Amino acid sequence: MFQWLKNLFAPKKCAICGKKAMDARNYYNDTGEPVVVCRNCTEYAERRAFRKRN
Ligand SMILES: [Zn+2]
Repeated sequence: MFQWLKNLFAPKKCAICGKKAMDARNYYNDTGEPVVVCRNCTEYAERRAFRKRN
């Protein structure tokens, strides 16, 4: 029920390296799920055809 709240405050993890994404960028992954990607992995994300979201 409060999962959305939990998601709101949980530290975001990078979808690629799995580390806490301090400078997270929002993307959709190749299956269309919203994910965050840390700054270091944005290049990789774009090669994987992840789409930016705002
Ligand atoms: Zn990363």
